[in-house]
Order: sequence, then C-alpha cells, then structure tokens
Amino acid sequence: MTDQRSRVQELIQRLRERGCRITPQRLAILHILTRDQSHPSAEDIFKELYTQFPTTSRATVYKMIAVLKEMNEILELEFSDQSNRYDGNRPYPHTHLICLYCGAISDPEHAGLDDLPRELALHAGYELVSYRFDVYGICPACRATK
Ligand code: ZN
Ligand code: MN
Repeated sequence: MTDQRSRVQELIQRLRERGCRITPQRLAILHILTRDQSHPSAEDIFKELYTQFPTTSRATVYKMIAVLKEMNEILELEFSDQSNRYDGNRPYPHTHLICLYCGAISDPEHAGLDDLPRELALHAGYELVSYRFDVYGICPACRATK
C-alpha cells in the first residue's frame, strides 16, 4: 500500500506540472481518493466533500476525476448496475474483490495474481495493454450479519 501522504504529494506535483491549481477542494478530493481502499464513487466523494465545503458542486468532483483519468493517475472501475468506482492509490489494472451484498471493493493481497495477465498475454503473443479481474463474493462483514 502506498503511503497516503507521499501519494497525495505525488499527485499534487503532477497536477502542478500540468498547470492545475490546487484548491482546498481539489486537495480534499485527493485525500478522499487516496485515504483508504474504499474505492469511492463520484457521489461518495461529493457527499464527503460537501460536509467540508457546502458551496462545492458535483462538477468539481467530476472535473478532478476527469483530469486524473487523463493523467492515468486514477483507476476507474465501470459497472453496468452501479456507479463507477475509483482507486487513486493504484492507478493501474489489478485484482479486486467485490461484495455482492454491500458493494465493498478491496484490493486483495495475493502475490502472483497480477502476474497472470502478463503471462497469458505473453503466451498468446499479445502485448498486454490492460486487464480486468474482479472476484465477486460476500465480504466477511456481510457474512457475519447473514
Ligand atoms: Zn459486504
Ligand atoms: Mn483497487
């Protein structure tokens, strides 16, 4: 897991290099995106931002996400039945565990799992560009309350 403070510093530096001004709202969004493994949706980010900055708009959140996406500094997980979720800590493809009950998304620690796509691609003569590997189940918290 990347140290949050250094990840935020890294993002601030990259954004500044692009001439992007770091407003208090934008800084707060970076903190929310990198704070934990919750993989927040844009609405999750907005709701939390709103508690600190009641004059903020959803557009502020969407704009920041769009900029980070363009810079390849955020991983966007798209779903057909729920909102997109974001990982600001690991902006590259990796395995996710997804709870079918509560929608929790986490990054499982499992050595070798993320080497598999590269090996499969290599074996088939592909150049690996991207991959998606989601494992669906019922998380420990939901299993405990079942
Ligand atoms: Zn759950
Ligand atoms: Mn992730």
